[in-house]
Amino acid sequence: MKNNKKTPPTIIVIFGGTGDLAKRKLIPAFYNLFNDGWMPEQFAIVGLGRTKLDDEEYRERLHDGLKEFSRTKPTDEQWGKFKDSVTYFVSDIGDKNSYTELAGKLDAIDQQWGGRANRLFYMSVAPRFIGDVASNLSSSGLVTDAEKDRVVVEKPFGHDKESAIELNNLLTSVFQEKQIYRIDHYLGKDTVQNILVFRFANALFEPIWNRNFIDNVQITVAEQVGVEERGGYYESAGALKDMIQNHLLQLLCMIAMEPPISFEAEEIRNRKIDALRAVRKIQPEDVHHYAVRGQYAEGWMQGKKVPGYREEQDVNPHSNTETFAALKIYLDNWRWQNVPFYLRTGKRMQEKTSSITIQFRPVPHSTFESTQADSLAPNKLTINIQPQMDIRLRFMAKDPGLEMDLTSAEMVYDCACGKVSPEAYETLLLDAMLGDATLFMRSDQVEQAWEVITPVQKAWESRPSLDFPNYTAGSWGPESAEALIARQGHTWLVNKHPVT
Ligand code: NAD
Repeated sequence: MKNNKKTPPTIIVIFGGTGDLAKRKLIPAFYNLFNDGWMPEQFAIVGLGRTKLDDEEYRERLHDGLKEFSRTKPTDEQWGKFKDSVTYFVSDIGDKNSYTELAGKLDAIDQQWGGRANRLFYMSVAPRFIGDVASNLSSSGLVTDAEKDRVVVEKPFGHDKESAIELNNLLTSVFQEKQIYRIDHYLGKDTVQNILVFRFANALFEPIWNRNFIDNVQITVAEQVGVEERGGYYESAGALKDMIQNHLLQLLCMIAMEPPISFEAEEIRNRKIDALRAVRKIQPEDVHHYAVRGQYAEGWMQGKKVPGYREEQDVNPHSNTETFAALKIYLDNWRWQNVPFYLRTGKRMQEKTSSITIQFRPVPHSTFESTQADSLAPNKLTINIQPQMDIRLRFMAKDPGLEMDLTSAEMVYDCACGKVSPEAYETLLLDAMLGDATLFMRSDQVEQAWEVITPVQKAWESRPSLDFPNYTAGSWGPESAEALIARQGHTWLVNKHPVT
C-alpha cells in the first residue's frame, strides 16, 4: 500500500483509451493523483484507440470527462500542466505494426528522459482482446524488463474457473506473475483498507474475532440502479459472476483472513487465499439450501416507475439472468467453524449500500429482569463501505432515569474524518506505479474465488429459475433470501444511520 516512496518515471499506456472506463475512472484518477502531488515527476499517458483523433481532440474528450466525473474539477492551470503529458495513438489491437510504432514512441520518450522508464500497460478493453494485446506486446519488444514493466487487467477475469485459468496462462506466457495487477476496485476503497487497520492495529478486537464470540457475518452490496445501458454485457454476467465472485468474496477475505505477519503483498495475499480455501464446498444437490437468486420486476424507486429487468434494453424478454444473489458460506477452520457468512448483492434494491455487519453472540446469562432482558440486543459491529463510510459499534447502555431501563447505543467512527477520500482507482493506480501488489488479486485468488461459486454457477446455469421475476424493484430482494438466513434464526441487518 502506498507510502511516500518517490514514484518512478512511468509511461502509462491505456488500451481502450477512448472507452468509458478511461474517461470516467482512469483519467480522473491520474488527474487527481497529479493534483495531489503523487504522480511521478516524469510521466506520460498514451491513450490508444481505433478512432482517428489528434492529441488535442483526445485531450478535449478527456477534459470533458474530467468535468463530469472527476472528484475535483479541473482548473485551467492544473489541466494546462497535466494535458501536455497526455497523447493519443491510433491503433487497432490486432494490428502488429502499430505495436512496433508504439515501441518507437515509448523508446523516444525514454531517450528524452534519459533512461528506461517504468511501463504500465492498462488493459481497459473487453477480455477477449487480452490474449492478443499480451502476445503483441511481447513480440514487438514493448515488454522487456520484468522489474519495470507491468500490466493492469480489469474485471471480468474469466467467466468461470476454466476461462480464468486460460486467461492466467495467456498472461503468464508473457508476464511474470509479479508484473500482473488484476484489479478489483473494491479493494482500493479507503473503508475496505480500514478493515485491516481496524483488525490488526487494535488489540481489542482480534481476541473476539472468532466463532466463540461471533454469531454471524453479513456482507451486503446493494445497488439502486438497474442494468442501465449495459444489458448486453449483464445478460452473460449476472449478480453471481459480476459481484459475488470478486467484490463480495474479497470483502469476505478481509474479514475472515488470519492475521498477517507483515504487510508485504505476498503475505497478505497468502492469508486471503487461505480463507478462500477454507470455504466449505457446496454439494450440487444442496445448492438450494445455500444460494438464492432473484430478478427484479418493475416497481417504484424514489417516486419513479422503473421497468423490470426483462423490459430493459438489450435484455432477452425471457432472460434467466439473476440480478440478485445471496449465498450462505461456511469456512472450515478453527476460527470460523459453523459461523455463517451471508453474502447478498442485487440491483434495483431499496437502498444503495455496501456494508459488512458482524453480529456477536448474545450475553451468556441475563442479569436483568425478564422485561428488561427482552430489549437486550447482541453487540453488532457495522462497517459501512459506501456511500456511507463509517464503523459503528452497537452496545447496550442504561437509559437515563430512575428506572433500570436498557437501551441500545452506538459508537460511530466517521472514516472520512471530514476529509475527502481518494477514489479507489487513485489508490490502486498509484500502487501499480509503485509496484505494490497488495491490493491486487493473484492468479490463485481469482481461480479459488471461481472455485467457490462453481457449484452454484453450474446449478443455476443448468436449471432455469421458474419464478423470475421474483422481487419488485425498490425492495430488498426475493422473499427466499429472507428464508435462506431465517433457517439459522437470523435476519438481514441493514444498518444505515446518518453520521451523527
Ligand atoms: P468500452 O466499450 O467503453 O471501451 C472499450 C475500448 O476498447 C474502446 O476504447 C474501444 O475503442 C476499444 N477497442 C475495442 N475494439 C478494439 C480494437 N480492435 N482495437 C483497438 N481498440 C479497441 O468499455 P469500458 O467500459 O471502457 O470497459 C473496458 C474494460 O473495463 C472491460 O473489460 C470492462 O469489463 C472493464 N470494466 C469497465 C468498467 C466501467 O465502469 N466502464 C468497470 C469495471 C470494469
